[in-house]
Amino acid sequence: MEKKNIDWSKLGFAYTKTDYRWQSTWDNGEWSEGGLLEDPEFHLLESACVFHYSQSCFEGLKAYTTEDGRIVTFRPDQNGLRMIDSAKRLEIPPFPLEKFLQSIDEVVRANAAWVPPYGTGASLYIRPVLFGSGPQIGVAPAPSYTYRVFVMPVGSYFKEGPKPIRICVSDYDRAAPHGTGAIKAGLNYAMSLFPTQEAHRNGYAENMYLDPQTRTYVEETGGANILFVDADNNLIVPKSQSILPSVTRRSLVYVGQHYLGLNVIERQVRLDEVKNFKECCLCGTAAVLAPVGLIHTHEGDIALPSGMDQMGEICGKLRQTLTDIQACKIEAPEGWIRTIC
Ligand SMILES: *Cc1c(COP(=O)(O)O)cnc(C)c1O
Repeated sequence: MEKKNIDWSKLGFAYTKTDYRWQSTWDNGEWSEGGLLEDPEFHLLESACVFHYSQSCFEGLKAYTTEDGRIVTFRPDQNGLRMIDSAKRLEIPPFPLEKFLQSIDEVVRANAAWVPPYGTGASLYIRPVLFGSGPQIGVAPAPSYTYRVFVMPVGSYFKEGPKPIRICVSDYDRAAPHGTGAIKAGLNYAMSLFPTQEAHRNGYAENMYLDPQTRTYVEETGGANILFVDADNNLIVPKSQSILPSVTRRSLVYVGQHYLGLNVIERQVRLDEVKNFKECCLCGTAAVLAPVGLIHTHEGDIALPSGMDQMGEICGKLRQTLTDIQACKIEAPEGWIRTIC
């Protein structure tokens, strides 16, 4: 298979139209067989539920080339299961896990020419989206749905290696205690756009959101979970019903426990104890792990001891081990790597 003529090292994180996408629709109580399409556009009614009542959820995962030349995905079953949870909370008919895995395999295989070669740091970003596409003006779930997955090559998140970022505690809230914080719904992002732009205008890469009820505990950022390392090298994982269950975070926790012998403590984390921690990082599919060097709060700045020049030691080990597992340089836990071709 001939690869596309792309300078893989220059890729950013942006939409590129690739050759194929995969789609299935739900009508009259069942999902259609589904299959590959060439048309990148949707043809939707103006009354489609998604435009009015935001009945939509999505996923994000990557395919990439391993050292021995295979194209693989990382734990796609976890994305499929999470999309089922998201769908249920939004009254969307869940897209079955087996079909989800099939759709990912087929769309990646069809676009194999777009999968960046090994060693470029680039990967194929996979975006499944599931939404109410049928007409709905009265407030109710849509009468019909569309599941689509499309892909695009994206560059390495950190071109010059991971650099610590500065984040700030937001005055806005991300997710209410019994709201939709734990599902990957577009609506959680719509309301985060304003606070995120404001953080950027103030010179911060991301917002750290606190629990809206008491503004005492750390939740997460707009699109990444947060991890800490305490003074005794314990991995501290903030716990809350409204944090999105990141596949990367759960994988890092497993790597910490089973590959690095770290003690992992999952508990509520008060903002006022963060000043005692040694390291902090964000985690998610896009960056895997991004070190945090400074956190701006109303009570002053917290400068993490790991500093603004390099990643903390434990975060560095976590990141290296997980990326080595993903690249199949070291053995992955059962079921983590799915070979596509
Ligand atoms: C997608 C997402 C993450 C990261 O999840 P991964 O499965 O690791 O990519 C974290 N927080 C939020 C709010 C998200 O939407």
